[in-house]
Amino acid sequence: MKNYLKHDEWCIIEEGFHREYNEITESVCSLGNGRMGQRGNFEETFTGKTLQGNYVAGVYYPDKTRVGWWKNGYPEYFAKVLNAANWIGIKVEIDGEELDLNRCEVADFRRVLNMREGYLERSFIATLASGKQIKVYTKRFNSIVDDESGAISYSITPLNFDGKLTLTPFIDGDIKNKDANYDEKFWDEIHRETAFAEGYIELRTKKTGFHVVTGQKFEILQDGKSVDFQSFPIKAEKYVASQVSLDVISGQETTLIKYACNLSSENYAIEELLPVAKAYLAKVSAKGYAKMLAEQAEKWISKWHMNDIVIEGDVAAQQGIRFNIFQLNQTYSGEDARLNIGPKGFTGEKYGGSTYWDTEAYCIPFYMATADAQVARNLLVYRWKQLGRAIENAGKLGFKDGAALYPMVTMNGEECHNEWEITFEEIHRNGAIAYAIYDYINYTDDKAYLAEYGFEVLLGIARFWAQRVNWSIAKKQYVMLGVTGPNEYENNVNNNWYTSYIAVWCLKYAKEAAEYIKSTDSARFAELVALLSLNEEAEFGKFQHIIDNMYLPEDKELGVYLQQDGFLDKELIQVKDLAASDRPINQKWSWDRILRSCFIKQADVLQGIYFFEDDFDIETIRRNYDFYEPMTVHESSLSPCVHSIIAAKLGDKPRSYEFYQRSARLDLDDYNNDTEDGLHITSMAGTWMSVIKGFGGMRVRNGQIFLNPFVPENWKSFAFKIRFRNNILNIITTSDNVTIENLEGGDITINVGAEAYEVKATSSVVVALGATELA
Ligand code: BGC
Repeated sequence: MKNYLKHDEWCIIEEGFHREYNEITESVCSLGNGRMGQRGNFEETFTGKTLQGNYVAGVYYPDKTRVGWWKNGYPEYFAKVLNAANWIGIKVEIDGEELDLNRCEVADFRRVLNMREGYLERSFIATLASGKQIKVYTKRFNSIVDDESGAISYSITPLNFDGKLTLTPFIDGDIKNKDANYDEKFWDEIHRETAFAEGYIELRTKKTGFHVVTGQKFEILQDGKSVDFQSFPIKAEKYVASQVSLDVISGQETTLIKYACNLSSENYAIEELLPVAKAYLAKVSAKGYAKMLAEQAEKWISKWHMNDIVIEGDVAAQQGIRFNIFQLNQTYSGEDARLNIGPKGFTGEKYGGSTYWDTEAYCIPFYMATADAQVARNLLVYRWKQLGRAIENAGKLGFKDGAALYPMVTMNGEECHNEWEITFEEIHRNGAIAYAIYDYINYTDDKAYLAEYGFEVLLGIARFWAQRVNWSIAKKQYVMLGVTGPNEYENNVNNNWYTSYIAVWCLKYAKEAAEYIKSTDSARFAELVALLSLNEEAEFGKFQHIIDNMYLPEDKELGVYLQQDGFLDKELIQVKDLAASDRPINQKWSWDRILRSCFIKQADVLQGIYFFEDDFDIETIRRNYDFYEPMTVHESSLSPCVHSIIAAKLGDKPRSYEFYQRSARLDLDDYNNDTEDGLHITSMAGTWMSVIKGFGGMRVRNGQIFLNPFVPENWKSFAFKIRFRNNILNIITTSDNVTIENLEGGDITINVGAEAYEVKATSSVVVALGATELA
């Protein structure tokens, strides 16, 4: 755990250059706009520890699988988000001496991520080996208004000399992925050109054939006024640059304004990319840096107006939650149903930037409650579009008749995870995809989604489960053999309770969905029956037989569900009894030892209890929580939030807060020593859920909101805004009461504890906590 970033409500501040943590700060200071993302790298040369990262949404490379022992059915490749051309580069030379913060003295260093207005700034004084001193101030942003562009303002002031300043703004396309399996480069150059103060490079990905044009255009100001200059193109492969030399005098500020754009063939015809890039840069440069920045601030502030969580009395917690919300908004804007949310967003290479069950199980609630319903809907449609591939994927594993197995990891619908125990066995992901449809409809009331898209996906998933179970003669029940549950510290287990429970739920929900469509739109139902070759009687009959006869392991004496068959044969030790030197076990123990142990990576039985809590009474929830949590090592960042929500439900406020803290500042404090690889975007969505569903106790049942809030001990109050159907609500909780402000929309009924309250349009209601009447 590190504590070098200053606490502030709206900014992430690094004061003094922490060279040793530079890669961590680069992750933390990542900028993104849903279309392109950029780590917090320096514009100028830096030869110290750095992970350069520029990413363009939807552009990936199928990196040939690398495994020790090939197994039939393995995906051919792992899809990687591509590290793309570096558009931020500006080489700085003073009388021929290059500025490199690794090779000079640095004073007054400050790097600040301004989350309120969406920009990154940096200032420092550098003393070069020659003794020449310069003051540098930079600011840049990835525009959320013109979302295929970014802009940089880079200012240099000589402090103790007059001399020659040479600035070389460049685009470098000779980029590699650090995690390339075979150390290959993934880009080929197609075209490059440089004009007076602009330059373009067109690159094409090997194998996938995506074209990306990256362009730059720049202007130079001295003491705030535009100046004339000469520029010399620098020619090199996959590289465009223009060199500008200026005479500068001590105390005079020179500023380079650089506009850049990244356009991909995902959005434009290949032959249009170059002319569109030129027009794009002409447009943004005509608008000008100051106006772009002002628009950026305005749009971010309006986003915050809808998304903010305000915590009074704890600056670290306030900063933590805003950081999480900021990064979630930078990762996915929801305008494009072809895009999804990589577990590291645009902040690093790990996890390939691909889609996991994380989206459905963790991220959708955030987007559903903070953005227009269309945003979450697009995430669902993404899976609908990939249904054909999910059916193919199931086919490769021997399933038939429209059974669909969604991939564990994907970019385009094809499975690309390379470990057999996950690829073939961690099939519970199918359940989360169905659950998200339910969750979305429950929240938004968009029941039409079922007939339009949802049912096709639900049926494909249900068909898979119906084929994946088998009848056990010994048990006289259906069983599900050879699976990996959410707890990846167990592989190839029989009857993982969570997987079997969600499978049965999927079968029920698919049947219910069919009933609903049939009763509301029989013509569409007939169409779907034909389209999907549904044999209602036979297939639904089979579903029902499984629903009625599925084996779900439990121990009646202990009153707990069993994570899997044989779980109680393990030596049941608690995490608190492990030596500190044994943790994290995934780094300290052999895999074999982990598999034999009782230790749980992340919520497994408790994941099911979290999804389906209304199926269980409170004592059952408590017994399972008390049994499993002490054996859980939380070595996945997806774990603490689920525990925080369940602890809150059980009234264990301190533990709920403790779990919340583990995810809220996970990256800011580098809790798991891995922030340098990129940020934990899924866990950020989990943090948001811990506040809303944990401390706020918010649930949606029968079309109404239910709250059961409390304020964590060291906070004075917290307030969150949510969209719920036609309303926008602000919910403020103090230790004494909860205020529900109905900001937009008509009258609405809100339940606090067991009481229902009518909150009239544009008015508010205050409910004393612990009381049942209006305060
Ligand atoms: C977790 C998975 C998750 C993946 C990506 C793994 O460590 O165990 O549940 O999908 O990370 O976030």
